[in-house]
Parts: sequence; structure tokens; C-alpha cells
Amino acid sequence: MTAALSFTREEHPALIPASDRAVFLENPGFGKVFTDHMVTIRYAEGKGWHDAKVTARAPLVLDPATAVLHYAQEIFEGLKAYRLPDGGAALFRADANARRFQESARRMAMAELPEDLFLQSCRELVAADRDWIPEAEGGALYLRPFMFASEVFLGVKPASEYLYMVIASSVGAYFKTPTGVTLWVSDDYTRAAPGGTGAAKCGGNYASSLIAQQEAIREGCDQVVFLDAVERRWIEELGGMNIFFVFEDGSMQTPPLGGTILPGITRESLMLLARDEGLTIREEPYSIDQWEADAASGRLRESFACGTAAVVTPIGRVRGRTRDFRIGNGGIGVATDRLKARLVDIQRGLAPDPHGWMERL
Ligand code: PMP
Repeated sequence: MTAALSFTREEHPALIPASDRAVFLENPGFGKVFTDHMVTIRYAEGKGWHDAKVTARAPLVLDPATAVLHYAQEIFEGLKAYRLPDGGAALFRADANARRFQESARRMAMAELPEDLFLQSCRELVAADRDWIPEAEGGALYLRPFMFASEVFLGVKPASEYLYMVIASSVGAYFKTPTGVTLWVSDDYTRAAPGGTGAAKCGGNYASSLIAQQEAIREGCDQVVFLDAVERRWIEELGGMNIFFVFEDGSMQTPPLGGTILPGITRESLMLLARDEGLTIREEPYSIDQWEADAASGRLRESFACGTAAVVTPIGRVRGRTRDFRIGNGGIGVATDRLKARLVDIQRGLAPDPHGWMERL
């Protein structure tokens, strides 16, 4: 139970002059260009959520004994605000991110931010930094809400104080290659075990996946595809994306949510859009050996990865210590292209929004 908080605002600190901003927005890349403002809300046991602020983006000062620096009690989200054809701005499914943030908090024994505060914080930041939404195709304002244990204490226990923040980054495409990325199958490392934190969006999951990503880059690949931790056989997801397979009969398949993969909002949205079109989608396990065999026989036509940052990205080739196979013609397939267009057109306000996903700000 939290009454809506009122945010104090430090208006227009103008850290970056408008003329420089235009240069940044031309080709922002991903995660390098940050806006002028940030949101902070504090939590303390007994006091609840308080001190909501929109301020100039600035460094944090942390005591070296701040709990997050030792035990990694940290969670985050990623969502985008899009530029609409009339110049307005809209958020895509922010309510779903708010709920997933609560689920992540629960798993990490952290305080749960009420959904309305999450939504309000995103709206406040977009309102303050609206001019940072790129207009170029493929551009968006990527919002990064996150929360960490801010208590100064070295005991191993759930913290009694948290700092929630939202920062924003003007972004373009996630991958430099718009056609078919190459995946590296990680044989040595897994991402999440049953009973672990795979379904939570906590920083620790990403920290432990970096060595596999490092291996992928060394092997000349773009991303890692992780297998399950028990049998090392079932395809789970990529380091930061879910995965889909498209078959010759037009049906699609994606690994089921079972606690070890992140319940992606793009994943769920694409399933709904595909079902709207009458396509069959199975949420069933698919093994790495079957994937290779189906790609070779032609039964499998396309594969793609999806997520807020990567949107829909075709997978062109899969490599590993003992395998190397191509998917379809190595580029973007017809079904992938069509689903991507359906989603992107809704997000950009170019097509009707049958599920009420967009919130105009
Ligand atoms: N899996 C992982 C591990 C991720 O980090 C992400 C990105 N949040 C996704 C899947 C895709 O989730 P979403 O579609 O909600 O961005």
C-alpha cells in the first residue's frame, strides 16, 4: 500500500546543449548516449517509499560498505519510449515491465515497488527528456529502471534500504549487422539452473553470462545461445534475448517459461500477434541436436531472437565446438520479417494497437 508520491523536479539542467544533442541523436548506437535527467526514489523499512525526485543526471556517492557492492542485490528493467508520427511519444507495455520488476524484486528478497510508482517514474523521465527520443527509424528512448540494496551493512541478509532509479539512453539498432547474426552455443557455461534466478532480471545473471559472451566474441560470433543446466541439451535463450523457431508448415516454437529463462515481453507480444494471425505457436522444449537436424533437412526455415533492445533479429548461423550450421539462406526470413513489421508498426504508431499496448505521454 503506497499513496502516489509527488515527484520534486529539478527542471532543465541542460547538461547538454541542444545543438550537441542533435549530433548525438543522428547515430546513437546502443547504451552510450544518456539524457539530462534521472529519477530516484528511496525505500527504507518502516518508512516505505519516499523522496521521489527528478534531477539532473549525476554520479552517485556510495559508501564502500553499501550492500549491493558485496552481495549483488540488484534488479533492473529495460523498456522503450517511441516517437509517434505526429511528434508525440508513447511507452510500450510499461505495465508488463512494472510487474516483472516486482517479480524480480520478490525473487531477490527486495522491497517491491508498486506498479503505479514504476509507471509514474517512467512517465516523469520521458516528460523531462522528451527531446532525447531519436526520430530516425529504429531509434527510441531506452529506459533503464533499476534498484539496488543501498543499506550500509556487511551482514548477509536482505537489505532494509533500497535506491530505485530510472535513467534513459537514446538508442538506435542493437546489432550493427541488420541481417542474420551468428550464435555461439555455450557448451561449458550455463546461464540458470532450476531453482535459481533465471526468470529474474538481476544483474548477477548477466555478470555470470559474460564469460560465455567473451568466448562467443573470440570465436567471431555475435551472441551466445545457452542450453539448460541439467541435460545440456535444451535450448533456453540468448544472453539478453528470447528465441523463436519457424517451421516449413508455418508453425512456430519457443522454449517454455520454466523459471530458468526470462519471461520476455517481446516474446509474449510476438506470440499474441502471431496467434492473432492464426499461426500455431508451441511453447515446447527444442533440443540443440534437433535444431541442427531440422536446419539441415529444411524442416526448420527461420530462427530469430527477440527483446526490447534487439527487437526481432534473424539468426543466420549457429556455431559451437562441435557444430556449424546455417539457418535458411542466412538472412531474414519471410515470417520473421512479417512479425517484426507487425510489432514495429504498432510501436511506432503506424498501425492500430489491438491489444492496447501503447500509452501516449
Ligand atoms: N532474455 C534475457 C536474458 C534478457 O535480458 C531480455 C531483455 N530484457 C530478454 C530475454 C527479452 O526480454 P524483453 O522482450 O522483455 O526485453
